[in-house]
Amino acid sequence: MQKTVLFIEGDGIGAEVTRAAQPIINKAVEKAYGKERALEWKELLAGEKAFKETGEYLPQSTLDALRGAELAMKGPLTTPVGKGFRSLNVTMRQTLDLYACIRPIRYFDGIMSPVKRPDLVDMIVFRENTEDVYAGIEYASGTPEARKIIEFFRDQLGVNVDLSAGVGLKPMTPAGSKRLVRKALQHAVAQGKSSVTLVHKGNIMKYTEGGFREWGYEVARDEFADQFVTEKDSAGVTGKIVVKDRIADAMFQEVLIRPEQYSVIATTNLNGDYISDALAAQVGGLGLAPGVNMSDTLAFYEATHGTAPTIAGQDKANPGSLILCGAMLLDHIGWHEAAALIHNAMNKVISDKTVTVDLATQMEGARTVGTTEFGDLLGAAL
Ligand code: NAD
Repeated sequence: MQKTVLFIEGDGIGAEVTRAAQPIINKAVEKAYGKERALEWKELLAGEKAFKETGEYLPQSTLDALRGAELAMKGPLTTPVGKGFRSLNVTMRQTLDLYACIRPIRYFDGIMSPVKRPDLVDMIVFRENTEDVYAGIEYASGTPEARKIIEFFRDQLGVNVDLSAGVGLKPMTPAGSKRLVRKALQHAVAQGKSSVTLVHKGNIMKYTEGGFREWGYEVARDEFADQFVTEKDSAGVTGKIVVKDRIADAMFQEVLIRPEQYSVIATTNLNGDYISDALAAQVGGLGLAPGVNMSDTLAFYEATHGTAPTIAGQDKANPGSLILCGAMLLDHIGWHEAAALIHNAMNKVISDKTVTVDLATQMEGARTVGTTEFGDLLGAAL
């Protein structure tokens, strides 16, 4: 069996980390399945490489290919500085309707962490990726647009907002919330996870954040009736996914104090932004975090770090984020044995303390290795 993965190398350290990651992902597949399964990598152009070859940063042909694809992976892309450039990442996310941003967070032995038991953190965050603050509807203080909105609120709704305010709109729909929660529940079912926690700020924003909570429970009730139980009814029940909800501020405390009680998190855009970074910091592994943006048809994996221009081309970059993206991709297509090989190899190399400079500075007694050697060590540990 062969699966095609479209890939965008990325700018800055993108080429180095892509070059290091692909052979490891391929080797894990070969080790697990011999010649029976393989990934076929096909390059698409985007970013500076695309600009050099085509005069465009994001050629239409790249978007067209992605639109018809099932699997893709990308290194980081520079957002060209200057007026008139939209972030390529945002353009791709919107054009391809990549509505779920998914980030697993787990601990690797040996990494320094600010908490006592980072090993108890094993969570995956499903963050809504198109609504809420990502809708980007905002007007600056003093502009005619902001004034118009404030006057509309005063005249039509009897609500007083100071005329000097900057204003934004936080739209959240039942359909947008439900498709995100559905993905989280599907993941919990497929991976045998124990719980899904809806994280929201519905005590204050009742009809947006509170709506998210309500619509989330609705999906569970309407579409996963046999597979889930609410927290309130869960005493003595086994073999079902507990669906619970937490107010966002309390959740930040919970993940620090009782991380073992949380597994799959489904949340709104802004809450998800904060909580995925906070959780990554909790395991000390900001630079190691993989991620995927998903639509209903495409799973688009991406390194969560940027292009690291100051170390680009120096064989210093950590390819770990993209390699773990590979493990996520393999799990997604059901090639779990190959994914497990990657996780084990990563565990071994990190606990041996032979790591790239970004990790070495977070460990005691580590030996710093370059991108190539780190890749070689991982390959040998598979
Ligand atoms: P950055 O992630 O590139 O760098 C932050 C720090 O982390 C730097 O010290 C860098 O050297 C280090 N670092 C990052 N990745 C590393 C790796 N794999 N190995 C070792 N060290 C690593 O963030 P930034 O400096 O804010 O952004 C630089 C550029 O990247 C900008 O143009 C930004 O737009 C872009 N960016 C792209 C993405 C993306 O494509 N998803 C994400 C973030 C930033």
